[in-house]
Amino acid sequence: NPTMTQNFIHDFIDEDIAQGGQFQGMTVHTRFPPEPNGYLHIGHAKAIFVDFGTAEKYGGLCNLRMDDTNPTKEDVEYVEAIQEDIHWLGYDWGDRFYFASDYFEQMYEYAVELIKKGLAYVCELTPEQFKEYRGDVNTPARSPWRDRPIEESLDLFARMRAGEFPNGKYTLRAKIDLASGNFNMRDPVIYRINHMHHHRQGDKWCIYPMYDYAHPLEDALEGITHSLCTLEFEDHRPLYDWVIANCDVPAKPRQIEFARLGINYTVMSKRKLRQLVEENRVSGWDDPRMPTICGLRRRGYTPRAIRNFSERNGVSKAASTVEFAFLEHCLREDLNLTAQRVMAVLRPVKLTITNYPEGQSETFSVENNPNDPEAGSREITFSRNLYVEAEDFLETPVPKYKRLYPDGPECRLKGAYLIKCTGCAKDENGNVTEIFATYDPESRGGDPADGRKVKGATIHWVDAATAVDAEVRLYDNLFTDADPDAGDKNFLDCLNPNSLEVLPNAKVEAGLAGVEAPASFQFLRQGYFCVDNKDSAPGHLVFNRSVSLKDSFKF
Ligand code: ATP
Ligand code: MG
Ligand code: MG
Repeated sequence: NPTMTQNFIHDFIDEDIAQGGQFQGMTVHTRFPPEPNGYLHIGHAKAIFVDFGTAEKYGGLCNLRMDDTNPTKEDVEYVEAIQEDIHWLGYDWGDRFYFASDYFEQMYEYAVELIKKGLAYVCELTPEQFKEYRGDVNTPARSPWRDRPIEESLDLFARMRAGEFPNGKYTLRAKIDLASGNFNMRDPVIYRINHMHHHRQGDKWCIYPMYDYAHPLEDALEGITHSLCTLEFEDHRPLYDWVIANCDVPAKPRQIEFARLGINYTVMSKRKLRQLVEENRVSGWDDPRMPTICGLRRRGYTPRAIRNFSERNGVSKAASTVEFAFLEHCLREDLNLTAQRVMAVLRPVKLTITNYPEGQSETFSVENNPNDPEAGSREITFSRNLYVEAEDFLETPVPKYKRLYPDGPECRLKGAYLIKCTGCAKDENGNVTEIFATYDPESRGGDPADGRKVKGATIHWVDAATAVDAEVRLYDNLFTDADPDAGDKNFLDCLNPNSLEVLPNAKVEAGLAGVEAPASFQFLRQGYFCVDNKDSAPGHLVFNRSVSLKDSFKF
């Protein structure tokens, strides 16, 4: 049942609370730890939902922590964008905003303590030797430096910090178990030398802690009770627990792993998303085709649609790929309730009502949202010259075509009058430039006075006298392949060349003249559209198709 939500993490926490022990009377405390090296994507939205949502459910706390222990590629631009996106999704960390790099000094001290306890040593295997000495599943690893005297390791570690050695010359390794079946436990490197500028620490450090050592300490120092992370860290949990057990930390967090979110027809790794941006395959991180939070926002996604999507996918250990169509389904569901209905003609052709007096005009009152009685109604104008969709006319109809064609069936202009098509005008190339029709003055509002059956379709239109110009952008999947990451193909080879179609000459109702982002509308018969939050301006409206009306998703 797709509407039943399941979250095994909550079962675990319920157990922890029931058992008492270290979790006796605790406030559930989680954290969301993004690395500020890119923009957040819909996969992160799942993690945000898991981290902040769990805290919310238990009346607990959730920290926002920039995981900036790796000095490369990190940037304030990302730090700010991450905060904006989380707030936009509707979550808040209060004053619990941290940088992992702020704990470098404490991490260093814990490492010194480990050395003093005989639980860490300075190793000088080169990366090549490291591979050679690593052993295989059945053979224990070796390190000739494992029994280096404590005093010597302490001295070398201090000098590593002082900058005496080049990159790669020494590492600090935890002394755990060289024969462990879990390679992460075979004396993992916990510090490496890296002479690099850090976006926050400047040049203060030239040794940096490894993730597996740093992360449990960050969690413990912040008093995290449940450290929720993705499945690739499952094999690292013994090391996480080892660090917590062997450093004298103020809290004992529990790591729980859940499956990453994957979505078809897109890629989700920041590295690949960055490549799309840097190679100008898309217009930026916020290109409406991107699975980033800022891209989805610009596409017209609502926080509620994304939260519903995350919730309804559930949280489990089973990796699965969710259909993009389900994300669209969640958006459609939300906008169906909230979006104002308007008329917009995307590929306009002029329609002239030949028996409607020239210079005359009138207004119709039309409802804003049939699903929301509170939404009220608005006035739209009508006159002799209108715009209709080019595809709503065919000079020679195909079988079952029920729209406009010469001497074709009576059609309804939505909310206005019944008309019959009488012919068209064409240019020298044979393109239709104008459609002619007559209207029934007795059908005001769209229904015939004598109750006769209307055989043609209902067609949307806008009044040429008051219409506003707009640019409309239609989007399709960014990739033609459902799994661009699969096999050994290059994901760039399956980019969809038709993922963006720009319609520069659309005509929209006069009432839309002043709209601004983040407004969303249902363009009748066309789909849901939002005002582009970057390129739209008064005098040059730009709309993005968020999602079409037709739901292809099947439960
Ligand atoms: P990427 O491979 O996209 O760079 P990452 O895990 O390196 O992802 P982080 O910035 O470290 O990116 O992610 C912050 C948090 O979000 C982590 O706890 C991570 O596990 C989680 N996360 C990242 N991608 C997903 C995903 N697709 N589904 C669920 N959680 C995710
Ligand atoms: Mg990460
Ligand atoms: Mg990453």
